Amino acid sequence: MEFLLKLDTERNASPTGKKVAIIGGGPAGLSAAIELFRSGHGVHVYEKMPEPGGLLLFGMPEYRINKEKVRETIRKLKDLGIVFYTNKNVGNDIPLSEIIRDYDAVLIATGAWENNRLCIPGESLDGIYYALDFIIKYHLMKLGYSDINLPKLYGHVAVIGGGLTAVDACHIAQQNKVDSISLIYRRGKVHAPAGRKIIENLEASGVKVLEYTQPIEFLGELGRVKTIKAVKTKFVGDRESSRLCIVEDSVHLIPADNVLIAVGLKPSIPNNGSSFNLEIREDGRTNFENVFVAGDALLGPSYVGFALRSGKKTAELINEYLRKK
Ligand SMILES: Cc1cc2nc3c(=O)[nH]c(=O)nc-3n(C[C@H](O)[C@H](O)[C@H](O)COP(=O)(O)OP(=O)(O)OC[C@H]3O[C@@H](n4cnc5c(N)ncnc54)[C@H](O)[C@@H]3O)c2cc1C
Repeated sequence: MEFLLKLDTERNASPTGKKVAIIGGGPAGLSAAIELFRSGHGVHVYEKMPEPGGLLLFGMPEYRINKEKVRETIRKLKDLGIVFYTNKNVGNDIPLSEIIRDYDAVLIATGAWENNRLCIPGESLDGIYYALDFIIKYHLMKLGYSDINLPKLYGHVAVIGGGLTAVDACHIAQQNKVDSISLIYRRGKVHAPAGRKIIENLEASGVKVLEYTQPIEFLGELGRVKTIKAVKTKFVGDRESSRLCIVEDSVHLIPADNVLIAVGLKPSIPNNGSSFNLEIREDGRTNFENVFVAGDALLGPSYVGFALRSGKKTAELINEYLRKK
């Protein structure tokens, strides 16, 4: 994908003397950085990972994105004069309030990396991982970060969820020598957010798809997961008012030596302690006139195209604010 390289990076304004901090170097942060740089502002990107790129580098598989092109784009942005601070987790390493104090405007583009939990008994047993954390570690390792400790998958692997994260987790599991991989989804293949076709392709590649199946408990031995207790589900009622219900007497057991949970992600807004309350508005503005939000941090889990557009659109709001300041 060369979308970022295609963005016009030509500076079309003289320096304004204004400084903008962007928190998060994923597609939303990068497209905003280009737009703000072109408008003449000084742009500093704070990134918690060892390099910027966000899920383009650490979430998406190689066959869907050219990672060397992403790195090349970022090198180009550095050469232009956009400043990147890596390994800087805003909210942990630097207080958000300090950044807000030191910059004319701040853009929060921190994505949606917070895992939804199933909230069922046994969820903290060894051998159970949140799929996005696992995927990020996998890509860090593939990209040459040798200090990463990626747990080895073995035996029966169960992936829970029906979105792209669950599908990518199955693909990673397929690269290990495992006895079986099951994809457990509480609705039908037709309802899966990843799309029916992708789920069927997964099935054709050997993954057992257990649709209309909902885990209710993880059972373990010596602190490690061994089995998933699950029930069957079905839709009840007519189209408009149909509800997903548990099928009576449908409790059954699924063997699972490793579990990857991918049941949704939430925006990961930097921790600001209890120093102030950040209220985020739909258009990317907040209750602080100089603080803005873009990308998955604003929209929830979305797609690269939407994140790029959101970054650019919010950069225009920041420009408008800085012009009036
Ligand atoms: C497994 C997976 C596969 C996907 N595949 C596709 C696909 O094939 N096609 C597609 O269009 N979309 C795909 N998506 C969705 C797409 O990756 C996202 O919608 C997009 O990356 C969002 O961009 P963003 O810039 O808002 O956030 P992100 O890409 O998530 O970037 C956020 C950045 O903020 C940084 N950050 C977070 N918190 C802090 C902090 N406190 N301080 C400093 N930095 C911080 C992160 O390290 C990261 O670099 C996929 C998502 C996942 C999870």
